[in-house]
Amino acid sequence: MTSVSQLARQISALEISSKPNTAGTRPPAAQHQKSASQSNVSKLLSKYAAPAPFQPTSTLHKASSASSVTNKPAPAQPVPSAKPALDIGRYDGGFELENETRGAAVTGEAAVELALDSSVAFERPTREWHLTDFDIGRPLGKGKFGRVYMVRTKTEPHYILALKCLYKSEIVESRVEKQIRREIEIQQNLRHPHVLRLYGYFHDEKRIFLMLEFAGKGELYKQLTKYGSFTEKRSSRYIDQMADALMYLHAKHVIHRDIKPENLLLGINGELKIGDFGWSVHAPGNRRKTLCGTLDYLPPEMVEGRDHSEKVDYWALGVLTYEFICGNPPFEDLSGHNATYRRIQKVDLKIPSKVSPEARDLIIRLLQYTPEQRIPLTEVRKHPWIVKYRSKGHSTSGLA
Ligand code: AMP
Repeated sequence: MTSVSQLARQISALEISSKPNTAGTRPPAAQHQKSASQSNVSKLLSKYAAPAPFQPTSTLHKASSASSVTNKPAPAQPVPSAKPALDIGRYDGGFELENETRGAAVTGEAAVELALDSSVAFERPTREWHLTDFDIGRPLGKGKFGRVYMVRTKTEPHYILALKCLYKSEIVESRVEKQIRREIEIQQNLRHPHVLRLYGYFHDEKRIFLMLEFAGKGELYKQLTKYGSFTEKRSSRYIDQMADALMYLHAKHVIHRDIKPENLLLGINGELKIGDFGWSVHAPGNRRKTLCGTLDYLPPEMVEGRDHSEKVDYWALGVLTYEFICGNPPFEDLSGHNATYRRIQKVDLKIPSKVSPEARDLIIRLLQYTPEQRIPLTEVRKHPWIVKYRSKGHSTSGLA
């Protein structure tokens, strides 16, 4: 099996490497790609080696072909040369099997809406991708709209990724074309150590494929289920990482709105990664009224259908802190949704005695009925319960 350190090296190679360019060859699957003015490898790297986190948001072209794109010349990028011995596990043929039985071709406006291909992304054109560009490994999981596999690019430097497949017809059936498109638009512009990277995407007649950062330790929710709850040390470090990621998102005017353990993944070093942007909203100076998110994590202003802001994520952070330490969300009421709503509206918070005074203080400061009274994220990161457990040199990773 691939060791954690091998993977760490590979994934860090997705960012800028300082080695000289020794590759620059076209991939074996070149017959599937349109000819381009620069080598695919350098384009691949210009896409991957773009860590600047505060670039302006770009919009996607609603186009099904790359013909309208002028590829900008990318600076020559260094390439790691040696092929590492990485085990991506065994492929079960799921993509092909499923493609025979699942989904139908999509036509009309929906087809245009879902013709998502990062090679035609407006701001940062990159190479065109195809399923044949990847060695496919073990299945990582199944989502609502398709499967996720561990894959490796066939061309050097053999990046390891998670490839997520979404069936267009099912997206259309669920009427979430716009939401999926928005999720992709948002995620492709985010670069933060605790936000899952979306490196690129491509589509065929029936499917959309997302090239995602590989979260080596899988779902955080599984860990929470396995252990029942987390120690305060572990919880504190996750909350520190969440606050860090949320500060980044809010600075880019992205409100997440669906923070919950099910939407969090763990990187190869056990570091937290926000991995789902389905309910995110890009709202510069905007206040939204749409009711969304999971009931247990909804703040009073959303339960009551009032305007809401990025402070909904502060509330969710408080719920998350409670759930990590106690093993269940604070306003859960098994007698039904209405009972949960009432408890949220009353901020009916009962914190078990096992919770330390510092953690209790942070939970109470986050779970304030009035959004403006919730402790700001900068203060969360300076809170004694967070500072107490933060490892030296700030690293927010190294968990699990
Ligand atoms: P989703 O469609 O996002 O719900 O993904 C289905 C499952 O695939 C998840 O529950 C994870 O177990 C797994 N998965 C999704 N994305 C990744 C990723 N980037 N890295 C590792 N596993 C993933």
